[in-house]
Amino acid sequence: MALIVHKYGGTSMGSTERIRNVAKRVAKWVRAGHQLVVVPSAMSGETNRLLGLAKELSPEKLGPDALRELDAIAATGEQVSVGLLALALQAEGLGAVSYGGWQVPIQTDSAFTKARIASIDDTRVRADLAAGKVVIITGFQGIDPDGHVTTLGRGGSDTSAVAVAAAMKAHECLIYTDVDGVYTTDPRIVPEAQRLSTISFEEMLEMASLGSKVLQIRSVEFAGKYRVPLRVLSSFTPWDIDIIEEARSGTLITFEEDEKMEQAVVSGIAFNRDEAKITVMGVPDKPGIAYQILGPVADANIDIDVIIQNVSHDGKTDFSFTVHRNDYAKTLDLLTNTVAPATGALQVLGDPKICKVSIVGIGMRSHVGVASTMFRTLSEEGINIQMISTSEIKTSVVIDEKYMELAVRALHKAFGLDAAATA
Ligand code: ASP
Ligand code: MG
Repeated sequence: MALIVHKYGGTSMGSTERIRNVAKRVAKWVRAGHQLVVVPSAMSGETNRLLGLAKELSPEKLGPDALRELDAIAATGEQVSVGLLALALQAEGLGAVSYGGWQVPIQTDSAFTKARIASIDDTRVRADLAAGKVVIITGFQGIDPDGHVTTLGRGGSDTSAVAVAAAMKAHECLIYTDVDGVYTTDPRIVPEAQRLSTISFEEMLEMASLGSKVLQIRSVEFAGKYRVPLRVLSSFTPWDIDIIEEARSGTLITFEEDEKMEQAVVSGIAFNRDEAKITVMGVPDKPGIAYQILGPVADANIDIDVIIQNVSHDGKTDFSFTVHRNDYAKTLDLLTNTVAPATGALQVLGDPKICKVSIVGIGMRSHVGVASTMFRTLSEEGINIQMISTSEIKTSVVIDEKYMELAVRALHKAFGLDAAATA
């Protein structure tokens, strides 16, 4: 008997029919002798619907009071899901009880709309499990030290599930979703993309932070920190498939690198259309200038990604960086009206129509020429690289958004990831 956490995404919870299927699948695991904690998302589209309603009524600029209400509203999606799933499990003849994050409780900080989990008290959950019940806990939400409902950011149910698995030292956390695992890249862009049977935790972390939407990045961070065995698998297989087959399906996120030694140098291609570029032209090239430009951006709580500073000409230099597209207008405004006058910059330019394409692989540590293959491939397609950034296991380029799909396809092929190439 093992303690297992199942997480079901919005599509898997998308209708009462699908919820019934989830209940049947969970029941199969319980009948096989396991203890189950289930963390579902809101029914698909529900969080968007709720936030859409909120937007109709909220002021242009959201202050902390409004953010608090957004969380109170958005958290109801998961509240409905857990109750429905508990009913469906009871109808299957199982004992089941649902809890909101505040009832467990899942304690978070007070950063509304992007709260971080601080601690989880598993006393109540353990008592229910011991009494033979399936425990269903809302994804996405928690409670702050003052008793306000918080949410963990979009896609946060993954993080709830992994955090619960970590707190309870679960044997495994199974993330059931509408894809059957982690792919070398998005199969909607490259039909030849292949499912990876394993991916190292570090690669998964890069893939998630570089734009792969399969798992919320914080959930991967959590899994790494507490070494939670994590598997991504499909909720669209028939619920009654053999449990051993199911337990081995999908993609396992591993902490062992040895198994992967013989595999491809590059494991995946990630891409991200959510960024925008800002360039500050003609700033005096003197100590402290990077801080003068980026300090105010950080103070405004805006995350910065790729940064480039050029060599200087006549004592002046150009400085470019990227931010999330949602922060683009705010950053441009800040730079134009505050930073430029203070630094004596000649001009501030912005370009929201960029994207970032990255190659990821732990094999890059021990191989040379990987980045140059990437650059050659892009040049053969006539794609201009605007910015480059690297780490031990990834190389990212910023390019014109309109070449994104072309770049991803060409790189997928160049690194031998197309199905035919490695079959
Ligand atoms: N329901 C939330 C969202 O749509 C959380 C989740 O599904 O993970 O972002
Ligand atoms: Mg998700």
